[in-house]
Amino acid sequence: MGRQNHAVKGMRRVDLSAVELASSETARSINRDIVLQLIRAKQPISRADLARLSGLQRSTVSQIIEQLLKERWIKEGAMAHLPRGRRPTMLHLNDDLVVLAVDIHPRQATVAMVDLNGHLLSRSTLPIGSNPAKAIESIIDCMKRIRDNHPKKSVEGIGISVPGRVDTESQRLIFAPNLHWPEFDIKHSIERGMGLHAEMENAATACLMSELWFGRMDGIRDAVLITVSEGIGAGVMTNGHLVSGQHGMAGEFGHIPLDPTGPRCACKGNGCWEMFASCHAALRYYAELEPKAKRITFHELLNLAEEGNAHALEALKMQARFLGRGLRTVTAALSPEAVLVAGDVTSAWHRFAGIIEAELAASTLAGKPPRLIPTHEGDVARLRGAAALLLQRHSMHSP
Ligand SMILES: [Zn+2]
Repeated sequence: MGRQNHAVKGMRRVDLSAVELASSETARSINRDIVLQLIRAKQPISRADLARLSGLQRSTVSQIIEQLLKERWIKEGAMAHLPRGRRPTMLHLNDDLVVLAVDIHPRQATVAMVDLNGHLLSRSTLPIGSNPAKAIESIIDCMKRIRDNHPKKSVEGIGISVPGRVDTESQRLIFAPNLHWPEFDIKHSIERGMGLHAEMENAATACLMSELWFGRMDGIRDAVLITVSEGIGAGVMTNGHLVSGQHGMAGEFGHIPLDPTGPRCACKGNGCWEMFASCHAALRYYAELEPKAKRITFHELLNLAEEGNAHALEALKMQARFLGRGLRTVTAALSPEAVLVAGDVTSAWHRFAGIIEAELAASTLAGKPPRLIPTHEGDVARLRGAAALLLQRHSMHSP
């Protein structure tokens, strides 16, 4: 059974108290997202097939299609030739509609134009400093340049992926210990600067959205996506819904201490998981093993390992072991069917997969361990995720 059928099934299984509270507006939004996702997965597709696959009434499907055509999310294409003379008009996503995606990191930001099928039409990386107002100004300039280079595309909105947690109410970044920015209203500044609507989310949740919208999560309803870079972030889906928690703070596994006597973390705690398993931790291990070596980047560390440098190999092994060990908290808390991993470690996945899988298997309390799935290139996943924030606004969140 395909993931889209599965998503539909999930929608029907919303618990009853939630259904009673859900306004008809919410129900319409969910049905719209279901139809849109079916079109994305099965395009080109006829209205009749959409009704059959979604389980929605034909009249409901027709209403949604009219709305999506009016909003230009989809287009009518050629007519299909079926037996017995029936010639339904086929529907597909409108490639001319695009999203501007921004991925903010502690030292750099990447801006891209992404179409509804997840293709990156243009991408540009810029350095950012410790002054958020300046950084946002250069991000806006970059977005305008990219928009001007594609005059035929219609920009639907902006998706922003950030290395921290976004308060669900205020839509402000409230917890980003690795970013070192003073309080700043990122989302509304970008909206004002561009005159477009924006959605902003934690990078891990954005990556999870990307896997749901563009990816291969057939039938998985319980999953955790871990981003491994400067820190460790997590996006959580349980029973088919994204979990955000109070203030959007759910999923901070990276700041659960593995060893309270361990190194001081940017969150002011000691020995947090990310102090042992992030890419920064791997660089620290390498520096400890090779104290005279110059400071290197994580990519340089991967290259050294590829050349057979014993200390680089050992540093990565330690990182992998701690990644697997910390996942025990995740599996004990949530028992996901799948653990997805995003970030730079996926570009040398052969060095990590076996060690993490062995740790997962050793710490599984009962039943089989979760499947371990690497996502595509980290930065692409985050950019597509930022775009998916705009495409899938309602269906994965609890009503
Ligand atoms: Zn911490």
